Amino acid sequence: MSIQKTLIKADEEKINTLCDNVKKEIHRVFEKNIKLVEENQALHDEHYKDKKLQEMQKTLNTMRDDLNRGFSISSDELDAIKEWFDKHKEKDPGMEGKLIKYPKHYIHHYVFTPTEIGIVGEVVCHCGEKFEFQSL
Ligand SMILES: [Zn+2]
Repeated sequence: MSIQKTLIKADEEKINTLCDNVKKEIHRVFEKNIKLVEENQALHDEHYKDKKLQEMQKTLNTMRDDLNRGFSISSDELDAIKEWFDKHKEKDPGMEGKLIKYPKHYIHHYVFTPTEIGIVGEVVCHCGEKFEFQSL
């Protein structure tokens, strides 16, 4: 092999090694970029979850405050009220007519009496008959 050919061969090897190194570096940067994009997405998701949780907590607090300012009827109490009305219907002949004439909610009203030791809740029929569904 001539000296010229040997030099060209040596240059080719250097160029190939350089190219391989550049390829490896590009590959490493791409891998790192993919990893960073995934981490960024995870952080974004977590931040979104935190934000959503904070919003839900705020809504819950607002609802709780609203409930504390107003008067609540539990589902058990509501069942008791319905049961009382079903029995009361037989004693109150005017109720059927009222039920047909008016929407259901206008034939009775609720009375909540706050006391020092709690709240008394009563439902009052249009005829004046009362049922205490929330007592002390
Ligand atoms: Zn009645």
